[in-house]
Amino acid sequence: KQPQIMLAHDENGAPVLILREEEKRKRLSGAEALSSHIGIATSVAGTVSTSLGPKGRDKLIIDSSGGLTITNDGATIMTKMDSPSQIGKLITSLSKCQDFEIGDGTTGVVVLAGALLEHALKLSKSGIHPIRIADGFETALKIATKTLEESSEKFMIDNREKLIEVAMTTLGSKIINKNLRQMAEIAVDAVLSVADLERRDVDFELIKIRKKAGGKIEDTRLIKGLVLDTDFTHSQMAKEVKDAKIAILNVPLEPPKPEIGYKLIVDSVEKYESLYTTEQAFFTEMVDKIKASGATFVVCQWGFDDEANHLLYQAGIPAVRWALADEIEGLAIATGGSIISRFDDLSPSTLGNAKLVREETLGTQTDRIVTIEGCENEKIVTVFIRGSNEIMLDEAERALHDAMCVVRNLIRDPSIVFGGGAAELCASLAIEQSMEDVSTVEQRALRAFAEALDVIPISLARNSGLDPIKTLADLKAKQKLTKDSAIGVDCMERGTTDMRSQLVFETLSSKVQQFQLATQVTRMILKIDTSIDFTDKEE
Ligand code: ADP
Repeated sequence: KQPQIMLAHDENGAPVLILREEEKRKRLSGAEALSSHIGIATSVAGTVSTSLGPKGRDKLIIDSSGGLTITNDGATIMTKMDSPSQIGKLITSLSKCQDFEIGDGTTGVVVLAGALLEHALKLSKSGIHPIRIADGFETALKIATKTLEESSEKFMIDNREKLIEVAMTTLGSKIINKNLRQMAEIAVDAVLSVADLERRDVDFELIKIRKKAGGKIEDTRLIKGLVLDTDFTHSQMAKEVKDAKIAILNVPLEPPKPEIGYKLIVDSVEKYESLYTTEQAFFTEMVDKIKASGATFVVCQWGFDDEANHLLYQAGIPAVRWALADEIEGLAIATGGSIISRFDDLSPSTLGNAKLVREETLGTQTDRIVTIEGCENEKIVTVFIRGSNEIMLDEAERALHDAMCVVRNLIRDPSIVFGGGAAELCASLAIEQSMEDVSTVEQRALRAFAEALDVIPISLARNSGLDPIKTLADLKAKQKLTKDSAIGVDCMERGTTDMRSQLVFETLSSKVQQFQLATQVTRMILKIDTSIDFTDKEE
């Protein structure tokens, strides 16, 4: 069938032909399939490439329910874009995979995959079989990773100051870059507080993130313990408990509810008084059990009756109600207490321990939190993020998460390569050099891979307002001449292309993973010969 052709004009008056196929194709094969898949992948990569680097632009995404997100985090952009095509989903999973394993480099991996696919398409159009291209890329990947390993350097992780500088570099491209130093310190101290330096590992489960809208981003802080987003149940309870013994309750401080179907008729003063006395006795017994256990602070997952609350106040035991399930669990782990489901189970050995529990007022009188510090398990910390609204809070969380990932990755493996496209340039040059002694077809695949790597310095330069082609040529010539793998794009216009002195580096593991994932997905797409899409509906 002939496609319908429509003539339209763009905003500059230039004619544009719009082809509207009468019937949406459901089956694509051979070169057509490859071309269509690569088209989708490169358009996705093109969208995120403008977010790459310290001068990358942010994206405003409005989801189907009208929710707003402002971010420059690759994995988030990809997830929120929610591409309907399977290839788009594949590229999204690429970014997520990098995010899950490493935490940063989520934009770079997509941009690189897009460039690899674009170059592969050119080769395929010139008659080289996709499988030969895929194999050539595999060879190029081996050369690239070997070069990365050889050019990597060891980073001294025992130096807090150095780690802060690294975290500052990561945070430099994020919205929260106004409070760089403070945010970087929070990220580094959070990771160092929970890190097991002997086993060289960091358990992120021990770093809790709590966000609270209101306040300024600079009010964000690290608390060496837990934060409950609530206040004490009675305004006159002591604001502070030292050496707290904490009862962690999963039972409400309320009288038992009558079963459904029963009616309780209170039609006389006597009956009311009798009911009141029974309830009173019930609460007194509960609070007595709490007192007898030696508890000096109560956290309850459920509600309290006012009467019970008053009794706790009289007993001098501050309390928190309606704590979230994960707060209760975190508290039990942090303070070494047990979660109690029956008052009879309360005993001194079930109580958690913390050096200081405090109710804090934030800015206004109505905004309060409860902090629990000096817990028995000292390794649990909370990053308490403040910001004017949810959008800021979410982006701050993502940025801090990226920075913490970089610090954790350095602790796991302190090998680093240089950023600003320096590592890509170095690998690209090494591949070009290796081309002399291979067959012509392989040579072309290797060259394509080398050129695809150049997309990173090119995008960084473009996003920073530099001339991309000239910058690339200059940097390549300089690296070739000096053999210095630290020469990269001076995005911040500091007057030097030496990424070593600019402290722009990335972990070797992150860069290797980026190269591997991007190549893997490219090979995967190259190997697809036919795609049949039964979900594709006619518009
Ligand atoms: P990703 O999500 O891939 O981590 P980013 O937007 O954080 O993407 O950008 C990372 C890229 O920016 C890397 O190539 C990194 O080397 C580079 N980069 C970061 N900071 C700087 C800087 N100050 N100068 C030059 N390049 C930088």
